[in-house]
Amino acid sequence: MSARIDPPLAMLAELTHRCPLACPYCSNPTELLGKSAELSTETWADVFAQAAALGVLQLHLSGGEPASRSDLTEIAAAAHKAGLYTNLITSGIGLTEKRLYALEEAGLDHIQLSLQGVAAAMADRIGGYKGGYDRKMHVAEIIGKIGIPLTLNAVMHRENLDDLPATLEMAQRLGARRIEIACVQFQGWALTNRSALQPTPEQVNRAKKTVAEAIPRLKGKLVIDFVPPDYFSDFPKACMNGWGSTGVNVAPDGTVLPCHAAATIPHLSFENVRDRSLEMIWYHSEAFNAYRGTDWMPSLCQTCERRDIDFGGCRCQAMAILGEAGAPDPVCRKSPGRAVLDELLETESSQIEPPQFVYRR
Ligand code: SF4
Ligand code: SF4
Repeated sequence: MSARIDPPLAMLAELTHRCPLACPYCSNPTELLGKSAELSTETWADVFAQAAALGVLQLHLSGGEPASRSDLTEIAAAAHKAGLYTNLITSGIGLTEKRLYALEEAGLDHIQLSLQGVAAAMADRIGGYKGGYDRKMHVAEIIGKIGIPLTLNAVMHRENLDDLPATLEMAQRLGARRIEIACVQFQGWALTNRSALQPTPEQVNRAKKTVAEAIPRLKGKLVIDFVPPDYFSDFPKACMNGWGSTGVNVAPDGTVLPCHAAATIPHLSFENVRDRSLEMIWYHSEAFNAYRGTDWMPSLCQTCERRDIDFGGCRCQAMAILGEAGAPDPVCRKSPGRAVLDELLETESSQIEPPQFVYRR
């Protein structure tokens, strides 16, 4: 490994895999962990204190649905006590007015509310949960009343990408300060459903135009972050800003991962906060050092001018498409793996009748 190791800046704490919804694009693993495997409130509090001491500034409380944990308020309070800026990533289901006030009092800084669709029928069908949309709208209203800063997280794919203009309008109506328009990343359940979720090239072009027009129009009112669909790009994203460089994920059972999908790389073994300190895991574990820096890179990336821009892309994507985690991300036009991706894309995006969703259960 060539580079100096800096401390992590952000932590994603996956408090649980439990969730009342069943989104077919869920990034959770297809083998979900049960409640009995989850870390206790006290252990999470200890993990947050360790994270802050290590240098973490931002904490994302995620899942599954974090509100499925009855101790969510205590967990948020522990994060606040540790001095972490704390963001709750939620579908809203399981949050009541009382709980939201308690979370605000506990020091929660920000909420990121996920959106399955802009109309009840579509949203409930995608989320696999009847009545979910109405409950989410009610939660959004209460968040606005309390005044907790809100980001809308709209996951876009073949079924809802054409609703992008309405999605932007909804973000403004709900008083969000920011919207993340995240085209589905094909990991976890989304990989299982890739064929059903893959947008068409026409949809992607329309979405790019909508975003390009909306950014200057909504300047000062709504910040728009657009994550375009990977497979339609020429070069990969800088996944996790470089493996083991700035972010650390902790799974519900305490397994510490360089990214949420890293467990799909079969030759890596991951350590657990129940057995070892976060600091030891971050600096010294085999999994974090496997793809850190540039020494691990294949020669194509080693000699490339984008080496320090995208860090060779996503290891999990190379694993998922090519079965080789150390290969350049197959999104890269320079890589031999791109031909595999193009073939997949050609087949999937040209389907007249995409397959039915396999719901996360
Ligand atoms: S993506 Fe859907 S199913 Fe997965 S955790 Fe979020 S709300 Fe639940
Ligand atoms: S060759 Fe490697 S570093 Fe260069 S653009 Fe492709 S993936 Fe990125």
